[in-house]
Amino acid sequence: MKIVRYQIEDSINWGILEDESIQPVTFPNLEPHGAKLSFSGVKLLAPANPSKIVCVGRNYVAHIEELGNKLLSEPGLFFKAANALTFSGDTVPYPSWTESFHFEGELGLVMKSRASKVSYEDALSHVLGWTCALDLTARDKQKTDLQWFRAKGADKFLPFGPHLETNLKPQKTRVQTRVNGVTRQEGTTDKMIFDVAFVIHYVSQFMTLEPGDVVITGTPEGVGELHVGDLVEVEVAGIGILKAQIGEKA
Ligand code: MG
Repeated sequence: MKIVRYQIEDSINWGILEDESIQPVTFPNLEPHGAKLSFSGVKLLAPANPSKIVCVGRNYVAHIEELGNKLLSEPGLFFKAANALTFSGDTVPYPSWTESFHFEGELGLVMKSRASKVSYEDALSHVLGWTCALDLTARDKQKTDLQWFRAKGADKFLPFGPHLETNLKPQKTRVQTRVNGVTRQEGTTDKMIFDVAFVIHYVSQFMTLEPGDVVITGTPEGVGELHVGDLVEVEVAGIGILKAQIGEKA
């Protein structure tokens, strides 16, 4: 099942994709309400409504090695805020304050239900759906700022979508990032050091995850520089393709 979030006039809603139409549904229970809508007149949005965006850094060994970092004994977590979310196909201006703007393609998820102190075994039952995420990063500022607040959390630093897929096995799925059609990252999620269920279990021991919250799960090796005019695509097998166009410096 494919879940979308959309805007029609001033109203933001959730829906289920059905062929050429959208069935409006409640969030997060996905109960149908109202008549089906056609795509015309509907603006699709990033499929998340988070109180927080929890991100995992350094979760693939080959990516840790390519940046010369150390293996962590527990998940390396950081935040983005909701200002970072942007929808597939949107243009992201190249930030004027960085000289090193990097792509990181990742598997992302949105929570369905409140998760506090959940077990490893129950963790995935709290997930509503899965999608493609692009963890944009100002690599130079990540190294020199006190925290990753700006380097990871600036406006539009998380292209996310295009929809949530409910039917996905996150234990082994392929994550590929292309820049201008050239494959730059290719990994599978079974190479994660801390798998998705462990990340949710771990975070929930000290921070309650709420319905609509986002988790992004780390990037495989192959990260690199973006330039004005680049088209980035993140494809997660079984979900679809997220696109982001890098715009003029601003
Ligand atoms: Mg990342």
